[in-house]
Amino acid sequence: PPLVSVQDVCQSYDNGTSGQITVLDNINMELRRGEIVGLLGRSGSGKSTLLRAIAGLIQPTKGTVTFEGKLISGTSSDVAVVFQNFALFPWLTVLENVEIGLEARGIKPAERRRQALSAIDLIGLDGYESAYPKELSGGMRQRVGLARALVVHPKLLLMDEPFSALDVLTSETLRNDLLDLWSEGRMPIEAILMVTHNIEDAVLMCDHILIFGSNPGHIIGEIHVDLPQP
Ligand code: ADP
Ligand code: ADP
Repeated sequence: PPLVSVQDVCQSYDNGTSGQITVLDNINMELRRGEIVGLLGRSGSGKSTLLRAIAGLIQPTKGTVTFEGKLISGTSSDVAVVFQNFALFPWLTVLENVEIGLEARGIKPAERRRQALSAIDLIGLDGYESAYPKELSGGMRQRVGLARALVVHPKLLLMDEPFSALDVLTSETLRNDLLDLWSEGRMPIEAILMVTHNIEDAVLMCDHILIFGSNPGHIIGEIHVDLPQP
């Protein structure tokens, strides 16, 4: 089976006096190993909601999400998420923020440290192990978010607007570093799903792009990216 299969997924929220609002309307999609897939659409079109359903953070109102053919129920260490606002613990150092990813897994402290340092090194954060998030630039903070996600060796990496809090140059550097790691097979993951409203990020990073329309969120088209040869 594909790594992820989303079938007939709908999501509604109870919006108080105005009743139910439908955020996702009948989403069908698949994610295959070796792919980077983008969800591209305007703010509010339901992209994050779909990402959260794939992450097991929410249970869709209708439909199913399967991972390797099995129904997703709750979060799993096979799936890691990188958030727009980094979601770091401000009172923990870089090293401690990355080690957090391993804490729930019963790994011995020395081994946790070894794996965290290896993820820190991979993502270009060496030398910043004992810094606190507030001492870092946005780009470095997002690298901490990435290291914390990658340290658990997930099969799937979900990224929700990973560059949108960063300036253009920082985004470009991080995007290129991620693409280099991916194309050289140095990231220990099988597929990436990225939510973005930025066409350039989607085209330069993704093999497939699913275009989201709003009200309610649904897939209005799909682009297979073919980059010009350098
Ligand atoms: P996007 O990621 O495309 O910006 P979202 O998935 O974050 O879109 O949100 C889609 C719509 O669903 C928005 O109108 C948002 O306000 C609404 N929404 C998201 N989560 C909730 C929630 N927990 N309760 C009510 N409405 C929500
Ligand atoms: P993003 O910008 O990544 O799409 P949002 O800012 O839309 O994220 O949502 C952040 C959090 O707030 C999510 O947990 C989402 O479920 C919740 N949320 C978003 N919109 C609403 C809403 N209208 N009512 C209640 N919760 C919401």
